[in-house]
Amino acid sequence: MGGTKFDVIVVGAGPAGLTAAQQLASRGGFKVLVIERGKKPGSKNVFGGRIYAHVLDRLYPEYVKEAPVERWVRRERITMMTEDSWTTVDFETTKVEHKSFTAYLTNFVEWLDKKAEAAGAVVVSEVPVDSLIIKDGRVVGVRAGNDEVYGDVTIIAEGINRLVLERSGLAPPKLSPEIVALGVKEVIKLSKEEINDRFNLDEDEGLAWVIAGFPTHYLPGGAFIYTNKEAITLGIVLYLSYGYQLDVPIHDLIEEFRLHPMVKRLIKGGQLLEYSAHLTPVAGINAAPPKLYGNGYLVTGDAAGFLLHLGILIRGGVDFAMESGRLAAEAVTKAHDLGKYDEDTLSVYGRLLEDSFVLKELKTFRNAHKVLIEPRLYSDYVRMINNLLRRYFEVDGTPRKLGSTLLESKGNLTLIDLARDAIRLVMNL
Ligand SMILES: Cc1cc2nc3c(=O)[nH]c(=O)nc-3n(C[C@H](O)[C@H](O)[C@H](O)COP(=O)(O)OP(=O)(O)OC[C@H]3O[C@@H](n4cnc5c(N)ncnc54)[C@H](O)[C@@H]3O)c2cc1C
Repeated sequence: MGGTKFDVIVVGAGPAGLTAAQQLASRGGFKVLVIERGKKPGSKNVFGGRIYAHVLDRLYPEYVKEAPVERWVRRERITMMTEDSWTTVDFETTKVEHKSFTAYLTNFVEWLDKKAEAAGAVVVSEVPVDSLIIKDGRVVGVRAGNDEVYGDVTIIAEGINRLVLERSGLAPPKLSPEIVALGVKEVIKLSKEEINDRFNLDEDEGLAWVIAGFPTHYLPGGAFIYTNKEAITLGIVLYLSYGYQLDVPIHDLIEEFRLHPMVKRLIKGGQLLEYSAHLTPVAGINAAPPKLYGNGYLVTGDAAGFLLHLGILIRGGVDFAMESGRLAAEAVTKAHDLGKYDEDTLSVYGRLLEDSFVLKELKTFRNAHKVLIEPRLYSDYVRMINNLLRRYFEVDGTPRKLGSTLLESKGNLTLIDLARDAIRLVMNL
């Protein structure tokens, strides 16, 4: 690896890095090196299970036939869960619109890797990059052990655990707990027929389900369930700033979630195939490093804080990463045409991001995490909704109107809390 000079070096073979590499190698004919620390691209990637497909329409129009799609999402559920009751909003559509699909990120990243390598990018695995080589205030390459590789421009796509940026002094030394959550995930094998029966799905139809309350012991975060072809993935995401309030280790949470009466019957007879854990950014654009580009470098994907996490819903991650990789490639191509990769020339990346859905969405929801980190949403409101419906549906000879039932069910919440939280949610989400 050492000794050779490349046009572009990409740190990290995830959705962001591989998209940038494929675009540069195929469209610009650039000599691109992608460096991945895992055994192979995809081996270190963890996620819940759903990819929004809009970016693929533009990047790989043939993806519907080619990509490792598990199921097309046709049902969405949101559940407020307590120990012994649960209330679910269930959305279904008869239209199969190919808007999002469930997938194993490992398989999806392997597919992106094939695309990048077929375009001519060189991908090396099992090489952890230690730091960037910075000369005269300009990034000129990367250092991995005793090896040094040089490139005109470096694209940093190392994910949320951005040690390369930190060690190179381009991001604060430690991720603060307010901007990240810890996710744990399990894959449970069930037959296709069992999944279709238990989740009321037809062939190739998928379900995306998020659950708040009991799974995180009523702390900010939530649980998820996605249906794959012959397995379901389930997991928990917990805002790290509330980790200290947790009375059990996080891996016990997933165990308790699996044993909850609602989940237990859905996974009955299933076989645990896989367990993984990973950090994920939750503060959106507030988790961005101080600069998204500078002399000789660009930052993409999770490393740049490009993930939209709305309390219990991940509204964009892989799609944001891929789009930022595509825009980084476009910026490098434009800078190449001008013959320099200084901060000023690479600032086109900032403008492309501003015009894209990536920064538009992240800026729209800039304050969402400040509202969604409110513990009442995951505790008092979850209990209130379940109490309200329990009392409303209970017929025991006592006349009950909705208004008085609401007042009886609100527990610790005051009417001021209800009004204030409703306004803050409507204004920020
Ligand atoms: C529990 C959980 C659930 C999620 N659910 C969803 C979901 O349902 N839908 C969705 O769209 N998104 C989801 N996400 C987010 C999604 O996984 C990320 O947004 C996406 O993977 C980001 O892509 P990336 O390329 O920026 O980073 P990553 O996918 O993290 O890839 C970074 C790559 O860089 C490599 N790397 C890191 N450091 C180095 C180094 N020093 N040297 C060399 N290589 C290095 C890593 O090994 C990795 O392969 C979830 C995340 C978690 C944790």
